[in-house]
Amino acid sequence: MKQPPRGRNFFFGPGPTNIPDSVLAAIAHATIDFNDADFLALYESCVAGLKRLLGTEQHVFLYTASGHGAWEATFANLCTPGDRILMVESGYFSDDWAKMGRKFGLTVETLAADWRRGAEFGELSRMLAADTGKTFRALCIVHNETSTGVCLPLEEVRRLLDETGHPALLFADAISSFGSMECWMDAWGIDALVGGSQKGLMLPTGMSFTAVSEKAMAVHENAGLPRYYFDWTEMLRRRQKSFCGTLPVALFFGLKEALRLIEEEGLMAVFARHHRLGEGVRRAVRHWSGNEGPELFCTDPARVSDSVTAIRMPDGHDAEAVRETALRRFNVALGSGLGPLRGKVFRIGHLGDLNEPMVLGALGAVEMSLGINGVPHSPGGVDAAMAWFAEERQPGITAAH
Ligand SMILES: *Cc1c(COP(=O)(O)O)cnc(C)c1O
Repeated sequence: MKQPPRGRNFFFGPGPTNIPDSVLAAIAHATIDFNDADFLALYESCVAGLKRLLGTEQHVFLYTASGHGAWEATFANLCTPGDRILMVESGYFSDDWAKMGRKFGLTVETLAADWRRGAEFGELSRMLAADTGKTFRALCIVHNETSTGVCLPLEEVRRLLDETGHPALLFADAISSFGSMECWMDAWGIDALVGGSQKGLMLPTGMSFTAVSEKAMAVHENAGLPRYYFDWTEMLRRRQKSFCGTLPVALFFGLKEALRLIEEEGLMAVFARHHRLGEGVRRAVRHWSGNEGPELFCTDPARVSDSVTAIRMPDGHDAEAVRETALRRFNVALGSGLGPLRGKVFRIGHLGDLNEPMVLGALGAVEMSLGINGVPHSPGGVDAAMAWFAEERQPGITAAH
C-alpha cells in the first residue's frame, strides 16, 4: 500500500514546520565561536529582527530549548512559590502550561472554557473584577491554541486588565502565532511573550525565547522560584545578555535568512498570505461538512486561526485512520489530535513556508483519504479552496495575473 517516496513529502504539521531551502543552506555553515565578533554582529542583527517581528523594543531572553523551556523560564524568573496565577483555558497547551505551573508550586486557577470556542471574556472580566485584593500575580493565555485552531484576541485581554485596574502581569504564549499572525508585544501590553523557533520562523526546533516588559523585569528582581540555567540575571552578565550555556550558533545563521525572507515578503504580506491559506482550508472543510462530514473544530468564526485548522471527525470515524492514509498513500503529513482530541480531530498546519498549490495538494490528499476510509463528506472541498484562491480581490494580492 505504501507508495514509493517520489516527489516531496508534504509536511502539514502545525510545528515544526517546513524549512525553506535557503534557510537550510544558511544553517549548513561551519561552526564559529559564539564570542567571536563575527558571531556577535550576526547575533545582534537577529535579535533586532526578532524584535521588529514582535513589535517590541524591550528585552528578549533566548534559550537553547524548545517552547516548553521558555514557559519554564518565564515562570522561574517571574514567580514565587504560592503565587496565584490565572490561566485562561484554551486546550491542550493551556492545560499543559497550567500543569507546569502547579509543579512549580504556583496556585493556578483556571478560567474554564469550551475548547471549541475559547474562553468567554465576559467571565474573564468578572473574575478580574472579583479579585478585589488584586491577588492574581499573572494572567496566562495561549494566543493561538495549536491543539484547537482557536485564536484569542490578546488586545481584548489587555483592555480588560486595564478596565479593572488589575496589576497582574500578562503572560502570552505566542508560539504558533507570532510571525504568522498579528501579535504585537508592546502595543498590546504583553509583559512576557513566549515564542519558539520551529513554527512561524521556519527554523528547526531548538531555540525559544521570552520577550519581557520593564514592568516584568521589576518583578523578576524579587521573584522567588529557584532557577539556574534559565536565570535572566545570570544571562544579563553575559556578552549576549541572553542564554546560559552554549548558543545554538547554526540556528542564528538560519534565523538571519528566515528574517530576511519574512522582511523581503513584508510582514503584513506574510500575515495576508497566512489568512489566504487558512481561509482556503476553512472553505474546503466547510464544504466537506455537508453530508454530515468532518467540520471545523472552532465554532466561532471570529476566532479561527490563520496558522492551524483543527478538523473534527464525524462521530464513529477515526481521525488517525485518515492521517495514516494521507501519510502512507500520499506522503502528506497531517497533525494529530492532542490529548483528549486524539482520534477525534486531525489538524492541518498552514504556517510558514507554504503557498496555494501546496495547500491544495494537502487538501486533495485529505479529500481522497476521507473517501478511502468511508468517512461521509460532501466531495468538492478542494474546488471550494481553488475558487477562493482564484478570486481576484484576494487579501495581499495586488494585481490579477
Ligand atoms: C508548539 C507549542 C508549544 C510547545 O512548544 P515545544 O517547542 O514543543 O516545547 C507551546 N505552546 C503552543 C501554543 C505551541 O504551539
